[in-house]
Amino acid sequence: MDGYERVARAEDEASGLHAYISVHSTRLGPSLGGMRLWPYASEDDALHDVLRLSRAMTYKSAVARTGLGGGKSVIIADPRDKSDALFEAMGRFVEDFAGAYITAEDVNVGIPDLRAVRRITSHVTGLSVEEGGGGNPRAATALGCFLGVGAAMLEATGSADLTGKTVAVQGLGSVGYGLAEHLVRSGARLVAADVNRERVERAIAELGAEVVAPEDVYDVECDVLAPCALGGVLNDDTIPRLRCTVVAGAANNQLLDEHRHGEMLRDRGILYAPDYVINAGGVINISCELRPGGYDPELALQRVNSIPKTLAEVFARAREQGITTHAAAQALAEAALAAGPAASGRS
Ligand code: NAD
Repeated sequence: MDGYERVARAEDEASGLHAYISVHSTRLGPSLGGMRLWPYASEDDALHDVLRLSRAMTYKSAVARTGLGGGKSVIIADPRDKSDALFEAMGRFVEDFAGAYITAEDVNVGIPDLRAVRRITSHVTGLSVEEGGGGNPRAATALGCFLGVGAAMLEATGSADLTGKTVAVQGLGSVGYGLAEHLVRSGARLVAADVNRERVERAIAELGAEVVAPEDVYDVECDVLAPCALGGVLNDDTIPRLRCTVVAGAANNQLLDEHRHGEMLRDRGILYAPDYVINAGGVINISCELRPGGYDPELALQRVNSIPKTLAEVFARAREQGITTHAAAQALAEAALAAGPAASGRS
């Protein structure tokens, strides 16, 4: 596959495994990326997804300077058909890569599934601290995103202070809810939207959130819109409706069209914090599991704390070169890839 180091397909009749692993790049270190299980309609859909996602991991890790490359795996299956045998077979597939691909949680694949993978291969991350992992990466993602909101506000308004600022959080899942907690603690006014009524009720009771219907979140007059639910939410329909200064949230692939919608935001004077820069806390946390001495929570925290600095670098590049923040992040990643591992990884 052009531009990819290794893409392989596995089929195992006994367990029903049907999967792909894609290693996009190990230029900066072993490739890391989650294991996604999805009932893809076709082989082509699964292949397209694994290629797109593994490439995105290369860029995310390059900008976050994790010392890792980009990879991903997808299993074509219905989540109802998950079994230990399936994940053990997947473990054998991961093991075939001899460490060039390291796996982690992703959509429909959780810790119990990874435990089955771990019985076969050691190239698994995100397990509990007791199991030699760094725990759930979501808290680190939420913290990095919160710090990134401050960095984006600093760039847009001259102050990172969120006291009294209004932040609309779309999606109160593991990351969005964690972000909302940080925001409320820092004195921000929280407006929240989720399709899940229970999560909304909890945010009202615990965080004093004001709530809007999911379809109305784009119209909220706010300082920051934080998309933490779905991809593609910044598009032709939503961008003209936005009444915010900054878009800074954890969801992956927020721009439906990276180039065009990045420009539309810029033309509207809205500062966009590139998703894969602001949401890198999880992968940064995982990278701290792979160090020779094992997981170090202090180091993980220190590195997640560097997300605002990376964002500041992206914003400065965009400002100075008159390009979108998304293009600036891509350029930063490409420069890190060109410079190679010695310049990029942190020891
Ligand atoms: P999650 O599934 O725990 O939460 C998603 C939340 O969004 C759920 O509460 C869901 O009900 C809600 N939601 C779904 N559709 C909605 C809609 N139309 N409007 C409002 N809310 C809606 O997922 P998560 O782990 O919190 O991740 C959130 C986003 O961040 C995803 O895009 C994910 O890819 C991205 N991300 C997560 C991590 C991580 O560490 N978990 C890391 C990087 C990026």
